[in-house]
Amino acid sequence: MTDRADAVTAAVAAATLTAALAVAPAALAAAAAEAASPIPAEAIAAAERDLLAAHGEAEGERIRRGAAQVARYWRTGDGDAEAYHAFVTAEFVPRGDALDALFARFEFALERVDGYLLSLRRDLRRATDLDLGPLLPIDRRLAAWSPGAHVDDDLFGNKIAFVALLNFPVTTLDERLEHGAGWSRREWAETRLAGRFTERIPAEVSQRITAAFAAADTYISEYNVWMHHLLTEDGRRLFPEGLRLISHWGLRDELKARYADPEGLPRQRMIATVFDRIVRQQIPAAVIDEPRLDWTPATDEVTRSEVVDYDPAAVPGPAPAPSAEREPDARFAHWRATYRALREADAYSPENPTFVDRRFNVDREIPEDEVRALFEAVLGSPLGPRVAELVVSRLGRPLEPFDIWYVGFRPRGAFSEEELDALTRERYPTADAFAADLPRILGDLGFPPEKARFLAERIVVDPSRGAGHAMGAARRDDEAHLRTRVGAGGMDYKGYNIAVHELGHNVEQVFSTTAIDHTLLQGVPNTAFTEALAFVFQGRDLELLGLAGGDPEAEHWKALDTFWSTREIAGVALVDMAVWRWLYEHPEASPAELRAAVVEIAREVWNRWYADIFGVRDVPLLAVYSHMIDGAMYTPDYPLGHLIAFQVEEHFETADAPLGVEFERVALLGRLTPDAWMRRAVGAPLSAEPLLAATARALAAVGAAGDGGGEDSAAAGTANQAAGAAR
Ligand SMILES: [Zn+2]
Repeated sequence: MTDRADAVTAAVAAATLTAALAVAPAALAAAAAEAASPIPAEAIAAAERDLLAAHGEAEGERIRRGAAQVARYWRTGDGDAEAYHAFVTAEFVPRGDALDALFARFEFALERVDGYLLSLRRDLRRATDLDLGPLLPIDRRLAAWSPGAHVDDDLFGNKIAFVALLNFPVTTLDERLEHGAGWSRREWAETRLAGRFTERIPAEVSQRITAAFAAADTYISEYNVWMHHLLTEDGRRLFPEGLRLISHWGLRDELKARYADPEGLPRQRMIATVFDRIVRQQIPAAVIDEPRLDWTPATDEVTRSEVVDYDPAAVPGPAPAPSAEREPDARFAHWRATYRALREADAYSPENPTFVDRRFNVDREIPEDEVRALFEAVLGSPLGPRVAELVVSRLGRPLEPFDIWYVGFRPRGAFSEEELDALTRERYPTADAFAADLPRILGDLGFPPEKARFLAERIVVDPSRGAGHAMGAARRDDEAHLRTRVGAGGMDYKGYNIAVHELGHNVEQVFSTTAIDHTLLQGVPNTAFTEALAFVFQGRDLELLGLAGGDPEAEHWKALDTFWSTREIAGVALVDMAVWRWLYEHPEASPAELRAAVVEIAREVWNRWYADIFGVRDVPLLAVYSHMIDGAMYTPDYPLGHLIAFQVEEHFETADAPLGVEFERVALLGRLTPDAWMRRAVGAPLSAEPLLAATARALAAVGAAGDGGGEDSAAAGTANQAAGAAR
């Protein structure tokens, strides 16, 4: 209903005003006082005067900036105003050889510190990460130990951080976006150096944040639904025995897999009803992770179950009474607890004084407004209704809200999983066999022979205990590690597909530690870029096996699939973002008030961007994502990741230079802002346009012919789909 949406908008506007006028809660005020600098303005002015007398007005701007930066992070425990004065006047370094030498010392020292800590952590995790025989209890403790956890505290304690803050510039995201294009590499490296020290969060605040997330994480990881114990209104069980699915992703993946099931529709509808009950917290508390009760989601009736499809030893204690009493807003109590814990850090982050600021300005380095505009460009595109029509024609029925998760565009692989397994097992009986093939693989990807050798020498292939991962290096003289799972019969196709993905990470890591000009710029702007580069490798895994690309229409189906899933997750992200704004505007809200706000915000986003296409209003489904509860506004990274990956992959498809040459060039750009990186890498700003243009081309190419009579190739496990599975 629009009146509801309007009411929320009005309430939000009013709340912004009251929040601005409200007195800060006592705890926050105390934290702010503790975090406030003890250095009075006159002490800063005195230090500036003495430094100007010593170094002249030519250094005036650096002196004023440095003295203020140090004062901003100085705490009573660092010394009194006199100690501040002595430190600032003694450690300021004027431009020229002396500053160059100081910069070089910092760059080298931090590369060593971070590099050794990373390799130390890798060594401590050796037994848990690698397939080296049975685990000992000590292995878990060693793996959990993080010897670097207190490094930044130490760097403030020994005033090394203050030397950086005194001599190098802290910049805001606005400054980086406005002036970064004209900066030298050294200037970028200096801003990264000082930027490392723009938060000084006390250990007890960090511990409370960690505790809030640990509690939320436990809550989510135990939020399972026993599917065989869901009943239709006429008492039928639609799901197999023993199936226990975690909310939301286990349930959602089951819903997606049911597109391939001719009898899937009632099952999908039932999962959608379960989601609705979870979001509104109408789900009976007793049925969560409880196989001894049956639940009819449509009526919320709960009864004792007669079916034993579980191991009784795994479900200890007395069976709960069959009660329909709803879950008492636990979901929203956890969300609120993470907000309250993160808010405690606000006072210690003067450059970015809210968690929303830190998520966008520090973690993502894309302004919140720009992120919203990118998502709205996808959601508001006139391609949405046209792709929806194609979905309708392929499904042979009108859309239902859960069709935001339609996966029928994903192409079937041209080769069966068995054929591919046989091929990779023969070629790679051991991890060493894969290692020996690295120079050939890299050569086939277009790296010149000497570069392929250089890379292969710096990548160690280890047999992994889990699915496989890339563990990079951060020292120039360390090696990157590719962890891959090789079974007794050799490497199966899935393991190979993941290994090629991880190899992409490793190659980026080697370039960015051993070949980059400034190690302070190691890496890429954020994890979405890391993944985009790994997908560039992974997408070529069949070619590397000598199997030429099959379906000429594959790129069109891929564009449609990416468009539809980006359209889905962009709405989820907008809900998540709006809720965090609401939390800051309602700092005292109860869990019940938060629940009401989340449901209204989710409906509002639905009504604006989905209702017309799906023909139904007021659906709160977008708020079901569990990562909203334990991820602290992580969900926007998914649609950003889709857009970034699409733009980067398209660049590699169309670039003139060989992939290897082009990959090295972009891997050496390092950790600029996403915007600066994208402009230098692909010659255009971060944009939804490449995805939208490809979607339009796809509609033109397959749209007319896309009436495959409800042909839904959603079957899980097809070869090309594994591409989406690796992380
Ligand atoms: Zn990855």
